Amino acid sequence: MLSRKSYEGHAVSEFDNPLASRYDENDALMYFDDVKVPWDRVFVHRSPEMCRRQFHDTPGHIYQNYQAQIRLSVKLKFMVGLARQICETIGTAAMPPVAEQLGRIAAEAAAVEAMVWGMEAKGSMHGDYFVPDRHAVYAAQTMTQALYPQMVNTIRELAGGALIMLPSSVADYADADLARVIASVQVAADGRSPMERVKLMKLAWDAIGSEFASRHTQYEMFYAGAQFVTRGHSFRTYDWEKAKALVATISDRYASPVPATGRAAAE
Ligand SMILES: Cc1cc2nc3c(=O)[nH]c(=O)nc-3n(C[C@H](O)[C@H](O)[C@H](O)COP(=O)(O)OP(=O)(O)OC[C@H]3O[C@@H](n4cnc5c(N)ncnc54)[C@H](O)[C@@H]3O)c2cc1C
Repeated sequence: MLSRKSYEGHAVSEFDNPLASRYDENDALMYFDDVKVPWDRVFVHRSPEMCRRQFHDTPGHIYQNYQAQIRLSVKLKFMVGLARQICETIGTAAMPPVAEQLGRIAAEAAAVEAMVWGMEAKGSMHGDYFVPDRHAVYAAQTMTQALYPQMVNTIRELAGGALIMLPSSVADYADADLARVIASVQVAADGRSPMERVKLMKLAWDAIGSEFASRHTQYEMFYAGAQFVTRGHSFRTYDWEKAKALVATISDRYASPVPATGRAAAE
């Protein structure tokens, strides 16, 4: 098992890496060498078509990605909560340009949540089982894999250096002189104590800037496939006939100024 570096294993403490120390889901490459797979455990053999069908001709792929959007909608709510909290603590939340940015990312988080409701509202029965709407799932997936890194970038922009100008670790507090200096420079605009400000900023860094956070950005961009893959799912499953029919409702209402020529006329 070829595992990447463990961010949990390298977390300094829960105070310094509150997310990496608890929520690191490690990624690893499994290498199978000299393995016996009994034939009664083989479901698909040398059939790319069957491999595709097990996900796309069943609701399998929809269920897999529906739960991913529920997960992401909660994560985005956490991210915008964090952004607002950072801005209140550094004293910028009420500034009109900052409030505008917060309003934009709040709308984005709300839109993703609304898309989850939409895929449920537009779902249908598949035998005994309720299945969310396929294209609504792919629409959310296509949008969110681009949205997530943009949102992270917006929060970095709103936060400035506050995420970086921090004690190197919780160990700094063991030195009384150092703890006094830290308290004098980590002043919060929202009334929280210097210690609480440091705690918040360390959480924020672990959410958007640390190695753990960076892996999350890569995950959101790729877990469901690269962009051309998710856009392909959207392209294949959108109701193009209904969309094209709307075009026809306008263009079929009036005649062309000259008789049609060419292949269409011949047909
Ligand atoms: C942190 C993380 C966790 C993951 N977890 C899982 C998991 O739990 N389960 C799972 O199944 N998978 C998981 N994945 C893997 C994910 O499914 C793949 O990363 C994804 O399918 C992209 O494949 P790739 O990494 O080989 O990139 P590539 O296919 O090599 O794509 C890389 C880039 O190359 C370009 N590119 C490549 N081919 C084309 C093309 N034909 N047209 C246009 N551009 C192209 C694109 O710019 C693309 O963004 C995870 C990935 C990450 C990063």
